[in-house]
Amino acid sequence: VKISVLKERDEGGERRVALIPQVVEKLAPLGIAFSMETGAGLASSYPDNAYTGVSVSPDRNALLADADIVLAVQPPSLDTVRAMKPGSVLVSFVYGRNNPDLVKALRDGKITGFAMELVPRISRAQAMDALSSQATLAGYYAVLMGAVHMPKILPMMTTAVGSLRAAQVLVMGLGVAGLQALATAKRLGAVTEGYDVRPETREEAQSLGAKFVDTGVDATGQGGYARELTDDEKHKVRTILSEHIARSDLIVTTAAVPGKRAPRLIDAEQISAMKPGAVIIDLGAEGGGNCEGTVAGQTVRVGPATIVGPVNVASMLAEQASELYAKNIMHLLQQLITKEHGLAPDFTDEVIAGTALTHDGYITNDGVRAAID
Ligand code: NAD
Repeated sequence: VKISVLKERDEGGERRVALIPQVVEKLAPLGIAFSMETGAGLASSYPDNAYTGVSVSPDRNALLADADIVLAVQPPSLDTVRAMKPGSVLVSFVYGRNNPDLVKALRDGKITGFAMELVPRISRAQAMDALSSQATLAGYYAVLMGAVHMPKILPMMTTAVGSLRAAQVLVMGLGVAGLQALATAKRLGAVTEGYDVRPETREEAQSLGAKFVDTGVDATGQGGYARELTDDEKHKVRTILSEHIARSDLIVTTAAVPGKRAPRLIDAEQISAMKPGAVIIDLGAEGGGNCEGTVAGQTVRVGPATIVGPVNVASMLAEQASELYAKNIMHLLQQLITKEHGLAPDFTDEVIAGTALTHDGYITNDGVRAAID
């Protein structure tokens, strides 16, 4: 089986790579021949010469035309897909609902597209769950970004002239990123509070030493995700949250609802009531922002507060984000390839069928097909 790994294009400043040297070693017994675009791993601290047993070439189109499987991080361009051979496999993030032309190009090119954001969130697929691996890093880093924007430190500190109080950190949205943010803030010595609309997050927050902000609203949706709140619920939640927002030194927001714009958790009035110097790190920035006034990719001052709207945080931690992403892909490839039969995806398998977006001229994912066709 021939696998080609692409260098991410410069647009968007993506630094990650879909293959690390350790994965090459692990997959070698399956009889895989790896090729890689020159410098593909450089921005994530993996120079070409670190990849033993991988052939390196600057000729992207030749790599694409030759590959049984193409690995990438970001959704590929249409030109990239058109250079792939019919019947070959793409493994990358695709975000089909946002990239309908790309999905159609995969379909029309008879490419089997595995979209990493579609990996089912079941225990057996945890090792392939790239959304989780990347969100873990982003949640950690959000707190560090917050710390450097704050005019104060996080822990309680006793000095000769008295004690400094610990900072108050509020994390809103306790999925994978939010829980990691709570854990990180706690490790740095802050007093932590967590809030989510799924009640099962109460125990998770408490087990990380945080208080849970109870608004009495349960918005558990399908597949372990949240649903959108009704207007009545939003009003109820707002009243309770305002007080917690006003006393926070740092807020990390991570709320998301699949297929929807990021829910608005903090409005301008609540921001104007925040403490001077307070900081919000809005990890929802890419999805439209959890706060009023967030600008994706920028840091803005709004009244007393600083709002940071980082995009593609995982790419900022490219070395380890690549390590985890490449391992997620490795676990998927181990399901797709056997030593005896080579590349032979079993579409009756829940994880493989769930991750597949296109196959043999069809859009196989019902949700994406309905959204774009
Ligand atoms: P996500 O990125 O979709 O959303 C982040 C958080 O925002 C979620 O906890 C969600 O409940 C919350 N949220 C949505 N609307 C909100 C609102 N109005 N106010 C406050 N919070 C709001 O979440 P995720 O990190 O992808 O995790 C989603 C779910 O999947 C979780 O239940 C998680 O435990 C589960 N999960 C399971 C597995 C597995 O079993 N393999 C792996 C990863 C995640």
